[in-house]
This record gives sequence, C-alpha cells and structure tokens, in this order.
Amino acid sequence: MKQKQYAVLGLGRFGGSIATSLYNMGHEVLAIDINEDKVQAYSNAVSQAVQADSTDEKALKALGIRNFSVVVVAIGQDIQASIMASLIVKEMGVKHIVVKAQNDLHGKVLEKIGVDRVVFPERDMGARVAHNLLSPNIIDFIELSPEYSILEFVATKSMVGKSLIELNIRAKYGINIMAIKSGKNKINVAPMATDVVQEDDVLVVVGHKEDLKVFEGKMA
Ligand code: ATP
Ligand code: ATP
Ligand code: CA
Repeated sequence: MKQKQYAVLGLGRFGGSIATSLYNMGHEVLAIDINEDKVQAYSNAVSQAVQADSTDEKALKALGIRNFSVVVVAIGQDIQASIMASLIVKEMGVKHIVVKAQNDLHGKVLEKIGVDRVVFPERDMGARVAHNLLSPNIIDFIELSPEYSILEFVATKSMVGKSLIELNIRAKYGINIMAIKSGKNKINVAPMATDVVQEDDVLVVVGHKEDLKVFEGKMA
C-alpha cells in the first residue's frame, strides 16, 4: 500500500482519534491545533504536531498543507473556524477533504464549499448505538443515504441451519443479504441461495430503512 500523507486540523476527541489511528496504521500524520496543550499531548502520537490557527491561510501555506493527500477538519464547537479552514484548504486544491459537522446547517455549508465528505460523528454513533440497543443481535447500522442503510446482525437461533431460500428474507422483507461473516476472518461476499446460515454467523443486509425497521422489529 502506498503511504499517504494526512493532515488533521483540530485535536478534540474525534480529530485526535483519527490522527493517532492513521499514525498507528503506519501513515504520515501532521496534527494541528490552536491550543498548545493539545499539541503537546499529541507530540508523540503522530509524525508531527504543530500549534497553528487553521483559519490562518498563511500558517497553513507555510505548513505545506496543499501537498497533503487528505486533510481532515475536526474543529467542532467553533463552526465559523471549521468553515473558514475548510474553504482555505479547498482553495489550496487539496484533493480529499473530510470535515466534521456540528449540525445539519453546518453540513450544508460544507457541501456548498465542495468538501469531499461531511461526517456527523455524534449523530451517527448515536444512531448506531440506538440500533444496537433494540436487540443485542444487531451489531451495527450504517446509513448509506437518507433512505437506505446497511444492518449487521448475528443470526438468530431461528435462522441457524436454514438456507437463504428457506429464510426468504428478500421476498419477505424486501432486503438483500450482501455478505455472511463466519468466524474471525471468513467472509462470503457472494452468498448463494443454497448457502446455509451457521451458528454465530453475522449477516450483512442492505435495504430501505422502512423495510429494515420491520425486519429489526422481528429481532427485538
Ligand atoms: P470532540 O471531537 O472532542 O467532540 P468538538 O467537536 O467538541 O471535539 P472542539 O473541542 O470545539 O470540538 O474542537 C476540537 C479541537 O479543535 C480543539 O482541540 C480546539 O482547540 C481545536 N480548534 C478550535 N479552533 C481551532 C482553530 N482555529 N485552529 C486549530 N484548531 C482549532
Ligand atoms: P456531544 O455528544 O455533542 O459531543 P459532549 O459529549 O461534548 O456532547 P456536553 O455537551 O457537555 O457533552 O453534554 C451533553 C448533554 O448532557 C448536554 O445537553 C448537557 O446539557 C447534558 N448534561 C450535562 N450534565 C448533565 C447532568 N448532570 N444531568 C443531565 N444532563 C446533563
Ligand atoms: Ca463533541
């Protein structure tokens, strides 16, 4: 894998976690925060930690931000600073920009600026935990669009030993089984109608939210 260079602006819990995770995966990470204490705290956890104001165009230029493959803007409370930093980085021509949004309106402004990805960590993690609370079988929930989602769940007792034809999930609920995970490393990404669900298998299904809701209701 080719090494990419990442820059993370804002070292709150979210930005800090992204920066250290990327660094621990062997990538070069420049971490920037306006707060010197934050910079100190991350100085040994990333390639380079620098104190700078991300809304200061000159400072970002001096740090060579334009040369980074990916820039993550993880400034939370100060929406104005987040927007300004995103715009500066976009105008510098950075190819891939990911920004944490505080609310829907903030997200819309970021889309207008043309950032590549807007993330809502608190909202999305809250939704994932809520789905998991519905049933201990539900491991994860990922929103693909306002209408479609992916649901990951442990096969219930009543599913074990049955083939996909017998389960008939597509016809019953209008949702599709995309993959079946068995054990730690085995994953069947092209499940066939005759494949049989084993105990502890994890099924990954995709479908319309309303259909997934009906399906989840059966598991709760
Ligand atoms: P968390 O990810 O912990 O939920 P948050 O979304 O609540 O964080 P803040 O704590 O407001 O966001 O900001 C995250 C970080 O961004 C802080 O460490 C803050 O010092 C830093 N920050 C804020 N403004 C700037 C700026 N203009 N330039 C650089 N860093 C900044
Ligand atoms: P976010 O999930 O947005 O990142 P946060 O983790 O930064 O939030 P806060 O904003 O400090 O956390 O607190 C979250 C919510 O909890 C706030 O609405 C706050 O009013 C509420 N809260 C704080 N302390 C208490 C308390 N003792 N009892 C009830 N609610 C509280
Ligand atoms: Ca927060």
